[in-house]
Amino acid sequence: MSEPFIIDGKAIAASVTDEIASRVARLQKESGVQPGLAVVLVGEDPASQVYVRNKERMALKCGMNSIMHRLPETTSEAELLALVAELNADEAVHGILVQLPLPKQIDEGKVLELIRPEKDVDGFHPINAGLLGAGALDKALLPCTPAGSVLLAKRALGQDLSGKHAVVIGRSNIVGKPVAQLLLQENCTVTIAHSRTQDLPALAATADILVAAVGRPQMIKGDWVKKGATVIDVGINRIPAPEKGEGKTRLVGDVDYEGALANAGAITPVPGGVGPMTIAMLMGNTLIAARRQLGLAAEPALF
Ligand code: NAD
Repeated sequence: MSEPFIIDGKAIAASVTDEIASRVARLQKESGVQPGLAVVLVGEDPASQVYVRNKERMALKCGMNSIMHRLPETTSEAELLALVAELNADEAVHGILVQLPLPKQIDEGKVLELIRPEKDVDGFHPINAGLLGAGALDKALLPCTPAGSVLLAKRALGQDLSGKHAVVIGRSNIVGKPVAQLLLQENCTVTIAHSRTQDLPALAATADILVAAVGRPQMIKGDWVKKGATVIDVGINRIPAPEKGEGKTRLVGDVDYEGALANAGAITPVPGGVGPMTIAMLMGNTLIAARRQLGLAAEPALF
């Protein structure tokens, strides 16, 4: 039996951000404009602080201007909306990202809907969700994790995914639904499974491409995976790891990785699979947003 192809998200993300950095340098040389990414963090959530720091670091690495706004936990909804309005109007800001979750006094939907769709580099605005649903990928900004997931599937299977049966487990607005829509756009036959799906193991076993976006550690077992299938594990779950010492933890995906190795043709590890792609696609979106705002032609797709 041949070993599965391990889809190295870290290396692929690095090659994508290298390409973005060279496109940013070219843009700056040709137009004098440096793409600007504004990141807004409200409060002190430790995980959010790490994410925001990584996004800032990567923006700088890609040659972009990073504009950080750190606001206190007590920020009112009106104050945050005023900042978003200011960033919407600022020509040096091409992409706006408001780190979630927001403190409870702030209505997340209200904030996300105020971001100009052309600057919505997270791809969460209802206009961008609608453009994706309508297949208008040339006008939309695509959500980063779903776009990164499809890019990884293509690195394993080649550019043409048409006719493959994709089973997406999870139907959230930020992962499951948009992944399914992107795979449909790639001419896959797509089934969306969720918590009410009957006989999930049997359904999963019909997938050529199995995408797990559930948020339940190691739920998808090795024998749910068809021989030779490509497994994209979006899940990031922290579980206790007493073998590493008392109180220690480790990250696992939604797929039982060790079990799936026996059947998968290709598989993403956790960590080091889909995770690193999210930031890479965020950089890609910021560059796309900047070019569109400058009225410049689209460049070849990153995936
Ligand atoms: P979510 O909780 O919003 O959605 C989970 C989905 O799984 C729901 O649609 C639900 O119907 C489905 N589900 C729950 N239990 C199920 C079951 N027993 N059987 C079948 N389906 C079931 O989660 P989300 O925001 O979509 O995130 C999913 C996972 O992806 C999480 O582990 C999250 O941490 C991870 N994630 C990773 C990245 C990344 O950068 N790699 C980004 C976003 C989310």
